[in-house]
Amino acid sequence: MSDITFTMVKPTAVANGHAGAILAKITEGGFRISAMKMLRLSIAEAEAFYAVHKDRPFFGELTQFMSSGPIVAAVLEKENAVEDYRKLIGATNPAEAAEGTIRKQFATSIGENAVHGSDSNDNAEIEAGFFFGFKDMF
Ligand code: GDP
Repeated sequence: MSDITFTMVKPTAVANGHAGAILAKITEGGFRISAMKMLRLSIAEAEAFYAVHKDRPFFGELTQFMSSGPIVAAVLEKENAVEDYRKLIGATNPAEAAEGTIRKQFATSIGENAVHGSDSNDNAEIEAGFFFGFKDMF
């Protein structure tokens, strides 16, 4: 079994109709989607998901934004999934993201940066488990 990473297509990208194009880039990039759903986070759920950032100045803005509309959450499988997906999405700030990356193409600002990607194998497992049970992953 390959490694996994976890992603969310964030509210603005979904609202702007980019979910399909982003998922196409993900599968063209060699990732297999092993779980996926569309849902809207409550503020409390966004706060729980991003608890690691609770002392950062942008925490309120981030959790407000992430609960502002539907997202697409997915588990992605590939060799070296975490690192390869971070490369495919590009830098946190889209102004610094490399050409061809998802954030360069679809993000509107550092806060509304189109997608989330796990930053470690341990966090990928935790984040996938936040949204999906064993029976939801294929
Ligand atoms: P990531 O791993 O590349 O998503 O970046 P971080 O873990 O550093 O930050 C998590 C998320 O917080 C980012 O994806 C952004 O949506 C948001 N974020 C990070 N820095 C800022 C900031 O300076 N302002 C705002 N509004 N949001 C930020």
